[in-house]
This record gives sequence, structure tokens and C-alpha cells, in this order.
Amino acid sequence: MTPRTALTIAGSDSGGGAGIQADLRTFFAHGVHGLVALTAVTVQNSLGVQGFTEIPADVVTAQIKAVASDMGVNAAKTGMLATAEIIRSVAKTLDEVEVGPFVVDPVAASMTGDPLLREDALEAIRTELFPRATLITPNLDEVRLLTGVSVVDPASQRAAAEALLEFGSRWVLVKGGHMQGTTDCVDLLSDGREFISLSGPRYETENTHGGGDTLASAITASLAKGASVPDAVAAGKKFIERCVAEAYPLGAGVGPVSPFWVLPQLS
Ligand code: PLP
Repeated sequence: MTPRTALTIAGSDSGGGAGIQADLRTFFAHGVHGLVALTAVTVQNSLGVQGFTEIPADVVTAQIKAVASDMGVNAAKTGMLATAEIIRSVAKTLDEVEVGPFVVDPVAASMTGDPLLREDALEAIRTELFPRATLITPNLDEVRLLTGVSVVDPASQRAAAEALLEFGSRWVLVKGGHMQGTTDCVDLLSDGREFISLSGPRYETENTHGGGDTLASAITASLAKGASVPDAVAAGKKFIERCVAEAYPLGAGVGPVSPFWVLPQLS
């Protein structure tokens, strides 16, 4: 039987922990066929991103049109978009093709602090993509860059959600994973009417590379299968928790979160 499809519009991670590599294996783990519009090739390992080369914007949009016109896209997500030109071209293309629920992960920099967007491109994500998004999934650094709000407690997390919804997405997930001094990871999901607090355990690990990508693609996979946004986010949080719990060291720096637990035991 033909599975549901999900499209990732994102960059490649040579270390295989984040980017399209994380997205495709997360789609696979959910029984969803992954489609790709590659935006950039990064040169990176566990120690950081050494640089990236973007794909020409017309090639990015041609990939989207090729798969959408022939195979059909049941849900889509964005990761690393690299330049304002790519962002503007993707936004225009989304007005021309049908991609179903659309998740925007406003990736600005790696957790090692290396930029994944050219300057000013975050503004293009905010103005061009947020109004078209079903859900946006910023982490706390991205929340601060986008709104100026520093999230330190539940009240500021709610204020950040309200400020982000002003930019026009249907839903926002303010991820609390990077909040200091909390024993749980509390994420806040809102559409402006409902404010749903999702709490889960915090695991002690240095190895969280690809965590944001994996969560956003797990949510996208569930949306592709027809889940509501609250159900897809709740399931995505359970999925990423297990991936963080099973994260492994690889290289001298930050290792990846792991979806290997979905495989049946190999003997
Ligand atoms: N490389 C690529 C291609 C990415 O898309 C991302 C995040 O979206 C990263 C690196 C950074 O991942 P992390 O911040 O989890 O290290």
C-alpha cells in the first residue's frame, strides 16, 4: 500500500544527525514516505558547522513543484532555508502547489552557535512563511530573536506564544527545552484560544544534535497521517523524548538524538 507522504524543505548535514537526514529517518520511523527539496549543503561534524553552500532558489522550488505535481504532498516542513531569496521563492511556490499542513521550524543557528541562515533571512521567515504556516516550532533562542521576549517562566512563555501568533501562523509551539533551571521540559502549544502545556522529563545528555529537526519532522509525519495539531505535537513530544533518552556520543563534540529504538531488535 502506498504510504502517506511528507516533504522536507531543508539542508543536508554531513554528520547525518540533523537536517534532511534527521527528517527522512523520522518520516521513515513513522511509516511516511519522505520527499526532499534540498536548500543547502552544510559541511559539519559533531564540533560544529564549518560552512554551507546554498542551492539556487529556482532549483529549490523546482524540487517542490516536481514532487507536489506528481506524487502529492500530505504535509510539509521547513528546516534550514539558508537565504532570504530561497525563503521568498518557497513562499511563492506554496501559493501555487498544495502541500497540506505546513510546519515551519525557524532554524537560525546550530546549537554550537554557527549560523545556518544568511543575515536578515530570519525576518523573511517571519514575514513570508509564518502567515502560511499551520504550526511554527521555535526554540527559546529563536523566540528571543523573533520577538525580543526572553522566556524564563510560564508567564513569559505565554507572552512569547501570544507575540509569535501575531505573525500569522495558526499554531505556535514554544519549546521549553532550553529553559535553565527546570527539571521538566515544558513546551507550550497555542492557537490563541487554547494554551496547552506539554510537560515531559528532562534527560541528562550532551547529545542533542538534531533534536529540533526530529521533533518538527515527527509532528509533520503525524499531520501527514491526518492527526490534529494537538495530537501530532503530543505524539511528536513522546517520540523526541525517547530519541533524546537514547542519544549517543559520536565524534568529539555533540552526538545525535537517536531514532534507532524504533527498529525491532537486530540479532
Ligand atoms: N545542520 C542542519 C542542516 C540543520 O538543519 C540543523 C538544524 O535544523 C542543524 C545543523 C543544527 O542542529 P542542532 O542545533 O540540533 O545542532
